[in-house]
Amino acid sequence: MESVQERMKRIGAYEKIASFMQKEKQDYSFKRKYAQIRAEEFRSECDKRGLNCHVSVGGLDSIILYMFLHEVCGIDVPGVSASTLEDRSIQRVHKAIGIINVPPLMREDGTRWTKPKVIQEFGFPVISKEIAGKIELLQNPTEKNKTVRHAIITGETGEYGGWQKNSKMQLNQRWLKLFGGYENETEGCDFQKPDFLVSAKCCYYLKEKNCDDWGKEHNSVPYLGLMASEGGRRAKSLRMNGCNYFGASTIRSAPFAIFHRQDILSLALEMDDLWKNGLKEKYQDAGIKEGRISECFQMPDSLIPEIYGTIEKKPDGTLYTTKAQRTGCSMCGFGIHMEKRPHRFDLLYESNPKEWDYLMFHMCKDKDGNDYGWAKVLDYIGVGWDPTTIGGNCKGQMSLEDFM
Ligand code: SF4
Repeated sequence: MESVQERMKRIGAYEKIASFMQKEKQDYSFKRKYAQIRAEEFRSECDKRGLNCHVSVGGLDSIILYMFLHEVCGIDVPGVSASTLEDRSIQRVHKAIGIINVPPLMREDGTRWTKPKVIQEFGFPVISKEIAGKIELLQNPTEKNKTVRHAIITGETGEYGGWQKNSKMQLNQRWLKLFGGYENETEGCDFQKPDFLVSAKCCYYLKEKNCDDWGKEHNSVPYLGLMASEGGRRAKSLRMNGCNYFGASTIRSAPFAIFHRQDILSLALEMDDLWKNGLKEKYQDAGIKEGRISECFQMPDSLIPEIYGTIEKKPDGTLYTTKAQRTGCSMCGFGIHMEKRPHRFDLLYESNPKEWDYLMFHMCKDKDGNDYGWAKVLDYIGVGWDPTTIGGNCKGQMSLEDFM
């Protein structure tokens, strides 16, 4: 059987990754031009194939992608989003620029999935999508996932993985200690296990599958605001497959794939400048004409949703957002262990204490019918959440292991 490494060699993946990473080192103007060329190429290839395109829109990066495609590249495609999951300030920008809102998937009982329903049924989205997916496998053992579970605990990958030891499949020590206990008997180890479920399914039910379905219904393939520099599961596939990918089951464009945070913030400032100098009125007029917004809808003064604060420059020239660095849903636990306090739950406490209280203590019910929520999960992974402890609380600080 061909191992992963042999396959990578055969398809020239190592060369592709090296060439991609070279482009990531280029300056902003190169990357901006490069993104434009890739976006235009994607559009014309889709035209040839008889496919429509849309932009998958969520937070700041993809809002900027949508504006970039429309205002710089002249690519006039719809934006699609599971908008209701986003922060209110993001929803307002979505509405202002005409993003189509796609509701979550329907459940068998005829109601739609909501965040609490997904979490109650499948588990909390916490740490990262990749790690939550691994913990979910440990919590749902089958004969089929036996080899993967072994690799998650030990790092040994077996034949398909090329008999590697210490492979990246293994959970790092911090998470192994807390979540590896499901395999204590099979692996002869002594790790802990929590009394709550962890899952990466939330995105799937609330935004991925429904937006994919929208794409299928409209014979449309997406532009995505992904960047390899953000790391995570997709970084490797972006570096291997490049900005535009026409695969057997996936077709997508990620024109910002080679961008770094600084590049996206530079482009955000540029787009925001356009917004403040005429675009706002242009989108308002179009929205009213198309009946998407009413005359009294308050257009946001900036394209940068309030949850991010503003984009400012440090003395050394580094751009940063004054509030949230990244967003997602208000209750998402992905990346929470790497955030300094006040973190997203603290910010939610300030902006909406009632919602905070619900998410922290009442969102789920245990088997005895008692309420619980994020407080239990954050306590378990060692992330502080008590609003009275901000400042003097060492919980929630980063350690080297968080980056491994
Ligand atoms: S971003 Fe987080 S909370 Fe939102 S749908 Fe995805 S996993 Fe769920």
